[in-house]
Parts: sequence; structure tokens; C-alpha cells
Amino acid sequence: MNKLAYIDEKIAELKKNGIYRVLPVNYGPCKNVIDLNHRSVVNLSANNYLGLAADPRVVKAAEKALKKYGAGAGAVRTIVGNQDLMGELETLLAQFKQEEAVTVFQSGLNCNMGVIQAVTDQGDLIVSDELNHASIIDGVKLSKADRAVYKHSDMEDLERVLKEKRSLYKNVLIITDGVFSMDGDLAKLPQIVELADRYEALTYVDDAHGSGVLGSHGRGTVDHFHLHGRIDFVIGTLSKAVGVVGGYCCSKQNVKEWLLHRGRPLLFSTAIPPSSVAAAIESIKILMTSTEATDKLWENARYFKEGMTKLGFDIGRSETPITPVMIGDEAKTMAFSKRLLEAGVFVSGIVFPTVPKGKGRLRAMISAAHTKEDLDFALEAFKNVGKELSVI
Ligand SMILES: *Cc1c(COP(=O)(O)O)cnc(C)c1O
Repeated sequence: MNKLAYIDEKIAELKKNGIYRVLPVNYGPCKNVIDLNHRSVVNLSANNYLGLAADPRVVKAAEKALKKYGAGAGAVRTIVGNQDLMGELETLLAQFKQEEAVTVFQSGLNCNMGVIQAVTDQGDLIVSDELNHASIIDGVKLSKADRAVYKHSDMEDLERVLKEKRSLYKNVLIITDGVFSMDGDLAKLPQIVELADRYEALTYVDDAHGSGVLGSHGRGTVDHFHLHGRIDFVIGTLSKAVGVVGGYCCSKQNVKEWLLHRGRPLLFSTAIPPSSVAAAIESIKILMTSTEATDKLWENARYFKEGMTKLGFDIGRSETPITPVMIGDEAKTMAFSKRLLEAGVFVSGIVFPTVPKGKGRLRAMISAAHTKEDLDFALEAFKNVGKELSVI
């Protein structure tokens, strides 16, 4: 008897719906042009916004730490995995983000898993934007608090929830992405902070796509809106613009002390390797000393988005270098992505269940590492495939 036959049935369902995938293989570093499945393609699908993942200065810092500290941290942070580089990174991040204290986790996802459950409890309410990232949704599931969802960026709906429910709970925590990763739009942070003040609620912003992108020197969405000190928990990732791996929570010193006792990923999962910590330190130093990469990122994003709009594509409501290209139909979206790849450009197709049914899109991720030639090449490919598939 095949006890795992039920998995075959699930896979058959994926294949029937045309969403079964085989992972493409990148045979080299994550750069503007990558060796994907042994074909050289323009890479419009990385979160490596500033090109730091393969920056020689960052790689060199990792090599140096690898020699001094070895390959792995060897334990969780709360036992002996807390190497001195980690303290250096946290101090630097606090300076960079202009926040009191920073706690580093192994990833952005696991930071949400750890922090949300640690700072909420039975008798509390979590109020979450309907388009929040999967790691927030999962993090909320791990909390003992009750939950409510408000319509995407709809401040009236958020206020309705607060008005109805605030008095029934001890603490209320409003959680939102800073930048929504599927559409590239920004959370309405000034209004959220104002509502939070009025209803005595706490605020939690996951700025994975804003860090290194928005604000002065890429300090993030909170800096963009001049809201330093007004958000209770600011989450960032070291995996996207910073180009390495890890996640972090900016907050007050008491929150940090609490997370070191109750942030479960810190207690039960080994710390990120010292070479990655050193690489992240170097990336943050680069961000703090120069705006060259963030300036180039925005210049490239503007150039590409203008080009796409001129060609007649619908690029949605993006306010960031994330450029959704709305297609609609799921099968057509996947066909578009496949044809682009054949033309030498990799842009992932995003369909249900990541986005609602009928809202299929390609998601082009622009980076500071792209040259004008890369972007022109990509625009030309979009034009040809767009005409071929009658999208434009
Ligand atoms: C990407 C992302 C994460 C996960 O970050 P990792 O460091 O890759 O685990 C968390 N939250 C949001 C909003 C994200 O976009």
C-alpha cells in the first residue's frame, strides 16, 4: 500500500491547474545577468535591489569572517551562538535605522514567527491588512491573541475594527507590510499611526521591501514618512536589499531583552553564520556612507516603469521599484513569463493563490545592478511578447 498516494493526488491537481513548477537553477551569483539553466538571461526577478549580494566588498567581508570565525555559529544565540559580530551588527543596525534597540533573527520570515507571538498574548487583538505577507499571516497564527483583518490599506475599515473591538481587549496590535510585495504600493503609515494613537493600539511594520530602498540612505518606509519613534515594532530583512540573509526587529531595549527570552527562533534555531553577519555589516556600512546604489536603483526603476507605461502595459499602483505587469488570466500570465525567458529575460509569473484569481501578473524587480542595456533589452522583449500575446 502506498501511504503517500495522497501527495500524488495533490501534485496531479497542481499539474491539472497548470501551476506545477520545476525550479530553475542559477549556476552563478545573483547579478543583473544570470546563468539560469545554463542560459544567460537578464534577471528581473531578484530582491537584490542594490546588487549587494555579489558586491566584491561584501564578499570580501564574508571571506574574512569565514577565516576567523569558521563556517557556522555552532549553537543558538541564547547558548554560545552569539558571536561578537552579532552585537556589532545589531548596534550598527540600530544606528542605521535610528531606533533604540535591534534584535537579529535568522530570516525575515522567522523574525515574524518569533516576534508576533512573543509580544502578544491571550486577551489581545491583532489587526492585520488583508494583503500582508505570508510570514505575517503564519506569525499571527502562532499567537494566542485574537485576530481581525482589514481591507487592504482601507483606513475606514481599520477604524471600524478598532471602534468595534478596542474596548474588548488589553493590547491591540496593528500589523502591516511597509511596502506590499505583490503591488509595490506603500502602507498608509501616517494614518495608521494616527489611528493607533487615537485608539491606544501598538503598531508593527514589516519593512522587508522598504529597507535599503525607501527613505534617506535606504533607511526604510518609516524614514520615508518621517515617523521615527512612532512605530513600536519595525521589522527588516537582511535578505533583500542588504543582499545576505537574516531578519531583525527594531524596538525599545525592553523588547529586545524580552525577545532574547521568548523569541522562539533565537532559542531553538542556530544563529546565522558569522560570514553572513560580517557580510551584512559591510552592506549596511556601504548604505550608510553612500547613496550611490539607492540613487541608481530609483533611476533604473523610473526608466523601466516609464518605458513599460509608454508601451501600453498596466503596471498597477506601484510606488517602488517593484513593477507588477498586469495580465489577468493565469495561463496567459505563465505563457508570457515562458516566452520572455525564451527571449532571454527572466520575470516570474505570479498567479493564484499568491494573488487573487484573475489578477495574474508578471513581477519585474528592478535593481541598481541593471545597466541601461539590460533594461532596454527587457523592454524590447516585453514589447514583442506583449504584442504576440495581444496584451498591448
Ligand atoms: C520577503 C519578505 C519576508 C521574508 O524575508 P526573508 O528574510 O527572505 O525570510 C518577510 N516579510 C515580508 C513583507 C517580505 O516581503
